[in-house]
Amino acid sequence: MLVLCYHALSERFPAALSVMPAAFERQLAALKRSGYRGATFEEAVQARSGRVVAITFDDAFLSVLRIGKPLLDAVGYPATVYAPTAYLDNPEQPLKWDGIDQWHGGEHEHELLPMSWDQLGELADAGWEVGSHTHTHPHLSEVAADDALRAELVESKATVEQRLGRPCTTLAYPYGDYDERVVAAAGAAGYSAAGTLPARLHGVRALAWPRVGIYHVDDDRRFRLKVSRTMRRLRGSRFWRG
Ligand SMILES: [Zn+2]
Repeated sequence: MLVLCYHALSERFPAALSVMPAAFERQLAALKRSGYRGATFEEAVQARSGRVVAITFDDAFLSVLRIGKPLLDAVGYPATVYAPTAYLDNPEQPLKWDGIDQWHGGEHEHELLPMSWDQLGELADAGWEVGSHTHTHPHLSEVAADDALRAELVESKATVEQRLGRPCTTLAYPYGDYDERVVAAAGAAGYSAAGTLPARLHGVRALAWPRVGIYHVDDDRRFRLKVSRTMRRLRGSRFWRG
């Protein structure tokens, strides 16, 4: 079971977090050829093993709907979108936080536009999962007050559930940043699984599930390597069933 983490898709956006549509299409074709079945993150963590791939998108960029959805439809894969809920009431405002704010004010600013709740609802109706990416996208391990940490997790879950009328059971930690206190808070907030972005695979478990980040620089060879290395290590881990 493989979980990939993407962000934006664009022909022209040179940011590390943006993948070219043609590259994404080739990556999906490679997964399909290798016999991977598509699943949401929630389903994939429940399945634990087997040739299952969960494609996840952090930040709810509009390009995921415009460019990603048709390419995923073509191979019959659903996906999971992680929504930073505080930002989505104003979808005409580009997303803004540490790490993407250097693209504000320039020719690529529009690449930072998020989806609206209606658009996320469309994806949910099509069988996609919409999970939480917290309320304001902080580094969770640096949120010192327990109340504030709880609010990030509880409010975003409640907002997704209220806006979309569906359960929100999984979470992606912003920046993949978490520690034991964050994992405990995520469990207490009612999440059944959460995705990280580790540099190396270790301690695989539902509330700290290692996702493989795919970025602008990942050509076909690097993509294949990342996938095969991850599958080998996962099979060697205790969490792998069967
Ligand atoms: Zn993010």
